[in-house]
Amino acid sequence: MYQDTYKHKGQRKKLIEELHKSGIKDEKVLQAMMKIPRHFFMDIGLDKLAYQNKAFPIAAEQTISQPFTVAFQTQLLEIKKGAKILEIGTGSGYQTAVLLELGARVYTIERQKQLYLDAQVLLKSLGYKAQFFYGDGYKGKAAYGPFDGIIVTAGAPYIPDALKEQLKTGGILVIPVGENDKQIMYKITKIAENEFKEEKFGNFRFVPMLEGTAKNRK
Ligand code: SAH
Repeated sequence: MYQDTYKHKGQRKKLIEELHKSGIKDEKVLQAMMKIPRHFFMDIGLDKLAYQNKAFPIAAEQTISQPFTVAFQTQLLEIKKGAKILEIGTGSGYQTAVLLELGARVYTIERQKQLYLDAQVLLKSLGYKAQFFYGDGYKGKAAYGPFDGIIVTAGAPYIPDALKEQLKTGGILVIPVGENDKQIMYKITKIAENEFKEEKFGNFRFVPMLEGTAKNRK
């Protein structure tokens, strides 16, 4: 059904060049995104738009993040091969694929049942292996921690303590913080037990991070 044609690859290359020009300098992140056919993670009818630098709707009224945002958050995580990464908000699974392509071991949580199910099928069909969880990311996943990195891909009204607690010393939490549709990107580094360094990076726009799991399958 889905094919990765020369046309898709050409459009993808242009997008990657655009990301580089707009400040994404981590070659490994750019290479990972060059490898992954973003249109596979979107509705088949949207495949002509998949290489625009924009967010698009996916199921359950959620969105696949804008490529610049994916690249920016991934760059902030400073992933080393074999790093243990927790992702909150699996969504389409695109960001998950980028993390896996960088050699991370990924644990990913989603509160929408349909997205949780669909992302597993898609990533498996592309040969990617991750650990998927249906649940509430506010709690993190203590049983699998501590993590080298935690990435939140929904707008959080505040920084959940559980996520900070589940970082290794030296670990990094990347989280967009703010309500409504405006967030500031935070990079929080655990420098010692109970000691954190906080850095802020510009404005972004995410769907909200919500408590609990969604009750209705859409
Ligand atoms: N990385 C995804 C982003 C999807 S949008 C992609 O690029 O496709 C953000 C996702 O976070 C949505 O799927 C939403 O359902 C999920 N989400 C929101 N609050 C959550 C929570 N508390 N726990 C887990 N997932 C959550």
